[in-house]
Amino acid sequence: MKDICMIGVGYVGLVTGACLADLGNRVVCLDVDAAKIQKLNDGVMPIYEPGLEEIVRRNAAAGRLGFTTDYSAGLKDASLIFIAVGTPAGVDGEADLDHVQAAAEGIAAHLDHTAVIINKSTVPIGTGDWVAGIVERNKQHDMSFAVVSNPEFLREGSAVHDFLYPDRVVLGSTDRNAAETVAQLYLPLQCPILITDLRTAEMIKYASNAFLATKISFINEISSICERLGADVKVVARGMGLDKRIGPAFLDAGIGWGGSCFPKDVKALTYMAEVSGCHPQLLKAVSEINRDQRMSVLHKLRALLGSLEGKTVGVLGLSYKPNTDDMRDAPAVDVIKLLRREGASVRAYDPVATASARRLLTNVDFRASPYEVAEDADALVVVTEWNEFKQLDMARIKSLMRQPVLIDGRNIYQPEEMKQLGFTYRGVGRGY
Ligand code: NAD
Repeated sequence: MKDICMIGVGYVGLVTGACLADLGNRVVCLDVDAAKIQKLNDGVMPIYEPGLEEIVRRNAAAGRLGFTTDYSAGLKDASLIFIAVGTPAGVDGEADLDHVQAAAEGIAAHLDHTAVIINKSTVPIGTGDWVAGIVERNKQHDMSFAVVSNPEFLREGSAVHDFLYPDRVVLGSTDRNAAETVAQLYLPLQCPILITDLRTAEMIKYASNAFLATKISFINEISSICERLGADVKVVARGMGLDKRIGPAFLDAGIGWGGSCFPKDVKALTYMAEVSGCHPQLLKAVSEINRDQRMSVLHKLRALLGSLEGKTVGVLGLSYKPNTDDMRDAPAVDVIKLLRREGASVRAYDPVATASARRLLTNVDFRASPYEVAEDADALVVVTEWNEFKQLDMARIKSLMRQPVLIDGRNIYQPEEMKQLGFTYRGVGRGY
């Protein structure tokens, strides 16, 4: 049993903090967002993440999980201090480290005993040393500490599962003992633990995300070629994925990746590469292909409907992927803005992300069901592949629409079936 302070109670911090408490540790989750901490203390979840609520409730009731906004209370007994604050994209694409800096300064101001500081946020290579410098320069008490990088690989929507069954845990530090102390936390998970130096650990995170984004952009480029040459990218991806050297994961063509990680992490790695004198051509192309993919919805609609001025377009799915309410860099935001700019009226439905979407999107008519979205629509666009959309009564959907144009941005329907129902169907990369 360890005493842990988790600084930053977002998708990563709350899941990790709650799951570490579930493994028997005492965890205090600390956030500067007082409203979020109030909600958690009132038993209300601030985010949607399957399975998380029960773990939070169980461990809070058992006294192993607490929430505070107070650095001195959060750090009081902690021997392990995680930093899991946000690292959004800065102006030129570099990671904005303001929150990490504030967390490091908070630690320096209040920590009065020996502890290990563990950086879980995705941060540029060299940030571990930078954090150590901030704490060392600003510390208010005579204490010693070590810094460990422990990048996070969980996925929103399956974050609890990903915590419990990680493919690997990566720990980087100049202090081997500190890394081994952190490794003990993860021993119950019985997964490979890779201990390395700080910078290598930080790079593993960026390289992993950039590779996954590359895989998706690759299949999306293939999908564009398939469309023009009359092949079906879904079958192409299956044929490729059966090759063990390639594997089937991240080979789903669609309208591109988004979310709180891939876009900013690819940009940040591109920026780091350029600043260090490299020429990251592949990384730039990966982002460009992704941008084009979002535009492709518009091109398809224009080809089928002509001008979009005055047309009504229904959007199914708003979150950047299913099973989350996260709207950060969601393709739906760009797609809806493009549609609005062309003069279309937009109606939208999402099973859980409507509240988050309302904060980002104006002039959108949010509806309570896919059927309401379809009513009198000139076209329907599937942006997020929620399971709910795979089981719709598509005959009813068609009967409600003014024009039966269906843009399946995630290839969740069978083209032949949709054509038989009378839709003018366009998937992604499915040859017409
Ligand atoms: P988030 O925005 O959901 O949560 C960050 C939290 O940190 C917020 O609640 C914010 O109020 C809090 N915070 C900001 N400054 C603070 C401070 N000085 N002291 C205390 N709390 C502070 O972010 P997230 O999605 O959990 O991501 C956190 C980090 O993990 C990022 O670096 C991200 O790139 C990385 N990551 C995220 C995911 C993911 O799927 N979301 C996966 C892997 C890695």
